[in-house]
Amino acid sequence: MPTDRALVLRRFPYSESSLVVRALSREHGRVHLLARGAYRMHSRYFGVLDLFDELELEWRQSPRRELAELRRGDVTRRRRALREDLPRYRAAVAMLELADLGSRPGRPDPELYELLSACLDRLGDADRPPDAALVVFELGFLQNHGLAPALARCAACDRNAPPTSTDRSRAHFSAGSGGRLCASCAEESRAAGRRVGTMPIDVLQDGEALLVDLRAHRLPPEDAITDPDRLVALRDLAERFLDYHLDSTPKASRAFLATPNRNAKP
Ligand SMILES: [Zn+2]
Repeated sequence: MPTDRALVLRRFPYSESSLVVRALSREHGRVHLLARGAYRMHSRYFGVLDLFDELELEWRQSPRRELAELRRGDVTRRRRALREDLPRYRAAVAMLELADLGSRPGRPDPELYELLSACLDRLGDADRPPDAALVVFELGFLQNHGLAPALARCAACDRNAPPTSTDRSRAHFSAGSGGRLCASCAEESRAAGRRVGTMPIDVLQDGEALLVDLRAHRLPPEDAITDPDRLVALRDLAERFLDYHLDSTPKASRAFLATPNRNAKP
């Protein structure tokens, strides 16, 4: 019977008193579990399968069934603070939604698990804006999936991508071409029918500062970027990039992206 660390991604009521949970396990990828009687007061799973908490689960996998049966569940770390503060709660749900989209049953991804767990921990720190942890998770998620945008050099030719000739504070940028572009690759991308815009260079630099650490498989320092406006601008870049490259848009992203691009030329 597999035993593993896990984080609940989604919960669905099932029959009268049971619960189906989708969880990200560290060593077994995404698992779909039936917790019988989880809603009964005396159930051994009562209060165990909450969102955001670090869990230790044991389940029985039946080869003929899609749902595995939960056999044991323990909370190893509660993250109550994330349930008591709406902006933090929303950021945590956004992380779970992305982890759900980016994980598959039977495909272990310990790095995604560790990133999610560490970013949920950071999100609990009341001294930092919630976007600080969320942006790190989003860029780490892109990096983990081989989708990280090129922010320092040209995404197409890997040469320098200097500021645009008309505005020295901005550089060419195209989600479809992989990120920042030099002038000639921007021309080529346009000719190939891709959308090419521009992005403020300071936002690109903020993102690159975080990606340097994420590429080296470590978390950026907690105080790397703390200014809420800079974080929102970077989050806008990361979520539009994710939106372009993922098959579906996480629900948590839709409201955030409903406003016009925050990095558009004023
Ligand atoms: Zn180029």
